[in-house]
Amino acid sequence: MKIHEYQARDLLAKFGLPVPPGIVVSSGDEAANAFTQLNSPVAVVKAQVHAGGRGKGGGVKLVKSTDEARSVANTILSKPLVTPQTGPEGVPVRKLLVAAGVDIAKEYYLGMAVDRARNCPVLIASSEGGVEIEQVAHDTPDAIIREPIDPAMGLQPFQARKVAYQLGFKGKQISQAVKAMVKLANLFIQTDASLAEINPLVVTPPDADNPDGQILAIDAKISFDDNALFRHDDIKQLADPHEEDPAEIQANKFGLSYVKLDGNIGCLVNGAGLAMATMDLIKLHGAEPANFLDVGGSATEEAVTEAFRIILSDPKVKGILVNIFGGIMKCDIIARAIVSAAKQIGFKVPLVVRLEGTNVQPARQIIKDAQADIPTLSVGTDLTDAAKKITAALAA
Ligand code: GDP
Ligand code: MN
Repeated sequence: MKIHEYQARDLLAKFGLPVPPGIVVSSGDEAANAFTQLNSPVAVVKAQVHAGGRGKGGGVKLVKSTDEARSVANTILSKPLVTPQTGPEGVPVRKLLVAAGVDIAKEYYLGMAVDRARNCPVLIASSEGGVEIEQVAHDTPDAIIREPIDPAMGLQPFQARKVAYQLGFKGKQISQAVKAMVKLANLFIQTDASLAEINPLVVTPPDADNPDGQILAIDAKISFDDNALFRHDDIKQLADPHEEDPAEIQANKFGLSYVKLDGNIGCLVNGAGLAMATMDLIKLHGAEPANFLDVGGSATEEAVTEAFRIILSDPKVKGILVNIFGGIMKCDIIARAIVSAAKQIGFKVPLVVRLEGTNVQPARQIIKDAQADIPTLSVGTDLTDAAKKITAALAA
């Protein structure tokens, strides 16, 4: 689960990281008021969307007056925000964060993620932070520091000090950076996050009170492990349904795991492994899956009917492959759902069904009886046959 920047900044602050003040608004007038309230010579108006790369897309702008805050806010709210991470159609902007502006001497990257090769959390840091971090990681991977963390011990201060020196921090910056790293690691572990990144973490220019400058977090992106949300009710509340795919929300309600993809063959499968194998086979035969959909073992006829409704609501879908290996799932439930989906929604696109396992005989009978009413329905004798039939039907 992802959250917005303003929510992530609140969490950082709660864990003791230094974050400049900010106010969430949803109109130009509110942005102007927020500018006055912040009482800072410069503020930054920031689109609150789950996609990154906002700076490059015009979704992050510095403003120096109430009027400028108002007009910049109105502009950002007036149209979808297109960033390198959104696709050309962009995403609607409903909220803005107006934050106190910060003078920046240097930008760093600081993040926590899961290192799947080492099976542990990892602290990731770079002295080349800012909007080009992806490019830096791609072109000069050596500029990215990775410090593996023992999940039981957390990030140890000696590790954080080592990274702080590697990043080139000097004087009082070192203890501030160490504190920031240890706190970010605590946040990551205690909230069951899957990613927590501060980009940029900045050092401000030196002034009379801070001869080495101050370290501040001015952007934050945090995602959480969905499988651990049950133990974080407070975090669950932060979900923003506007940012999620409506079909995925609908699927969730019925206990289906559905992920939309870019191809045109809808798949309905039971079991995540079989769903992956089915997608592989579709690709092997030269087509692309439109989705991943695992109905699971205990789905009812109603839930499976809903699964067909979700697949068919995607206008890109030009054919459907049903692949069921009935273990706990009974094949006749799927067969009945096909009949009910045909009645309720109708199959205008080719539908190839491959069934094996529990209750396959009654299921085959139901399918056979239904074929007269569903002219686009055909049966696959095995998975390869089914994949060939659906890709051939599309090519025809
Ligand atoms: P992102 O593009 O979605 O990652 O949004 P960020 O919040 O990271 O902002 C992008 C860039 O805008 C940052 O890397 C900074 O260079 C700049 N920026 C953001 N906030 C401020 C600020 O308060 N002061 C200054 N001078 N620059 C800022
Ligand atoms: Mn950023």
